[in-house]
Amino acid sequence: MTVNPGKVSLRSRISTLSEVTVDKSSRAARTETRTGLVRRARRMNRTLAQAFPDAHCELDFTTPLELAVATVLSAQCTDVRVNLTTPALFARYPTALDYAQADRTELEELIRPTGFYRNKAASLINLGQALVERYDGELPASMDELVRLPGVGRKTANVILGNAFGVPGITVDTHFGRLVRRWGWTTEEDPVKVEHAVGELIERKEWTLLSHRVIFHGRRVCHSRKPACGVCVLAKDCPSYGIGPTDPMEAAALVKGPETEHLLALAGL
Ligand code: SF4
Repeated sequence: MTVNPGKVSLRSRISTLSEVTVDKSSRAARTETRTGLVRRARRMNRTLAQAFPDAHCELDFTTPLELAVATVLSAQCTDVRVNLTTPALFARYPTALDYAQADRTELEELIRPTGFYRNKAASLINLGQALVERYDGELPASMDELVRLPGVGRKTANVILGNAFGVPGITVDTHFGRLVRRWGWTTEEDPVKVEHAVGELIERKEWTLLSHRVIFHGRRVCHSRKPACGVCVLAKDCPSYGIGPTDPMEAAALVKGPETEHLLALAGL
């Protein structure tokens, strides 16, 4: 039986292309040199830049202090919920001194929707006190100083440095770690080791935007349980292609977020 190419559906053409891709990807992953890895990682970053040209910090803030507070609240909580909570909080506590002198019960009530509100309230009060005592109420702009502040770990410090001070930083959250391991950029599990490993692959000036792009991709396409491999812009460079549905229609239904139409168009749908 002969097949008329004109009758082959877009769906089956994409499926066939995808199968070829996975073979190439797994071969490439087995034989990849260090230079090859650097090139592939940078190519993937460029592809992500096309997929998510508006990638940004999804926490709302106008000052370094607001970003620090929002980042503390974002632990175990979605950015959307944090953003619903912070307008009233920022209006009530505009300065570090306001947090330092906050009534604990009142502060807890304001941030209760973000979960773990008792611990978070304690962190914010301690943070306010440390900022007033050590830095005249201002956020310092260096990693060493930031990580010495109560409630501020390396991840929070990188968010603040990258987004409030314009200092390149790699933010290793749960999405970032999962994705870069799937991509074979590193096998490390420890966030600090992941940060250093990725920092050796990607140009420093790209670090902050790379972090946003990877996190965007993790939230919208490369989900923890069912990644949308069949419509993923990174398919040809991803050694994990195929751990999620490769059928384009099935995969398309898994894509989330406002960029969905753009992402599916890039995948040829
Ligand atoms: S969605 Fe699939 S192909 Fe895309 S990055 Fe994730 S694992 Fe790789």
